[in-house]
Amino acid sequence: MDTQVVPRISREEEIYRLRTPASRRFFAEAREYLPGGDSRSTLFYRPYPAVMDRGEGCWLYDVDGNRLLDFTGNHSSLVHGYGHPAVVEAIQRQLRKGTCFPGSTEPQLRLAKLLCERIPSVERIRFTSSGTEASMNAIRAARACTGRARIATIDGGYHGLSADATAGVVVLPFNEIDSTARILEAEGGRLAAVVVEPVLGSAGMIPAERDYLEMLRETTRRLGIILIFDEVVSFRVAVGGAQEYFGISPDLTCLGKLIGGGFPLGAFGGRADIMALFDPTRGRPPLPHPGSHNANPIGMLAGAVTLELLTPQAIDLLNTRGATIRRNLAAAFAEAGIAAQITGLGSLFAIHLTGQPVRSYRDTLGSDTDLRHQVFLGLFNEGVQLDPRGVGNVSTAIGSDEVSWLGAAVRSVLSRMM
Ligand code: PLP
Repeated sequence: MDTQVVPRISREEEIYRLRTPASRRFFAEAREYLPGGDSRSTLFYRPYPAVMDRGEGCWLYDVDGNRLLDFTGNHSSLVHGYGHPAVVEAIQRQLRKGTCFPGSTEPQLRLAKLLCERIPSVERIRFTSSGTEASMNAIRAARACTGRARIATIDGGYHGLSADATAGVVVLPFNEIDSTARILEAEGGRLAAVVVEPVLGSAGMIPAERDYLEMLRETTRRLGIILIFDEVVSFRVAVGGAQEYFGISPDLTCLGKLIGGGFPLGAFGGRADIMALFDPTRGRPPLPHPGSHNANPIGMLAGAVTLELLTPQAIDLLNTRGATIRRNLAAAFAEAGIAAQITGLGSLFAIHLTGQPVRSYRDTLGSDTDLRHQVFLGLFNEGVQLDPRGVGNVSTAIGSDEVSWLGAAVRSVLSRMM
């Protein structure tokens, strides 16, 4: 007799399957053409991911017609929600003028000025088509200007780089001042750069502690190492990014996601003397930086309009809503008697189902990821879209009613699990 073990389908998964038959059919067909049914590894979750149809403000609609209150903004790319009218109107005008050109465009200068004015450490900037390319180019620049090859990154850090691109890197323990300082002193003269996210994003929205970043700044400066802040996710926490919030100036900064207003975009910038490595005006630059779609005008314009709407007042409101969500989540899990740590900064938040206080990626390793998955599916069933890894963020399309809705949805899901 065949004794194959059939995994038990949870109640939340059962409801999910009933709500998403069109997604299931789509996924089955897509797997015949795309390995894993998609081109983006991070979007997969069991039993199959919901397939999206459209978005409006803070609402997402999947191909089964489920309406979902969205706390992802495509993993923090859409700080004003889906289809903000000012962004749509600007890109429609640009679409009629042209989508790409064999020359620079006015929208590129507009976005470059906006970013350099907001981030004082960014004296010069260049655009790429993704955050991944931004971090690759920042690392190239650090290697070229120091003449050193080795890179140090943070345990649990994510810069879009594949494991082979970061092979041989030195890994630093996040928020551990003494051990990190010891490693840096020992590696010293061999390191080209330290790359750090001021808020560890993919590892679960874990903010750096200010004295940790201060130590990195002081030590890298003394040892001639380039300090790179990856602000692809954290830029949204203040007008000038997390570096303004923490009061620390890196040598180079990587940007992406929201600065493209929903279009594929990245940027890297910083000290003018380092960025001069990319300057072709005095002959062949030490670092050529080609790319057919670098600084595409649609993304430039969508990003410029997005940033113009992201005023100090808008950021304050986002951060207030983020703080309320973190408080509500902590209260809901505490009432349910489920050990949870809610991390985040500004409008970024994450749920870690562990009793261990979370200051680093390592602290998250004991989290109950099965339960987190049930909560994720449960929230979907309640009409809320979160990232399957339990991370989320707030867009300006989210009002106080939607913040309360999230709290109520979490309580409802947890009550089914008690
Ligand atoms: N850096 C950070 C901190 C990120 O979170 C990401 C993507 O999630 C990247 C870089 C890579 O950006 P992209 O997905 O645009 O290549």
